[in-house]
Amino acid sequence: MHYFTPQRCAATHKIIYHDRGQAQRAADRCLLERDVELWTYRCDLCGSWHLTHRDPSLHYAAGAKRRDSKPRSRKRGYKPRQR
Ligand SMILES: [Zn+2]
Repeated sequence: MHYFTPQRCAATHKIIYHDRGQAQRAADRCLLERDVELWTYRCDLCGSWHLTHRDPSLHYAAGAKRRDSKPRSRKRGYKPRQR
């Protein structure tokens, strides 16, 4: 039996894609088939493309961003009490 065995990155053990288009197609298929959204990014360690579950552009701010998207608890028109 023949299975296609994808190459894996030695550092991250993720599947290696040789270009962004290939990675993006895999990400699109994953979204359609499994309803899992993936992002492509270029690996510094092997120079190839991988997929990640996290949006790399939100990566560090994900928690903060989510909190900021809520409306502020302070109501419009609220004024600090003045003496
Ligand atoms: Zn890599």
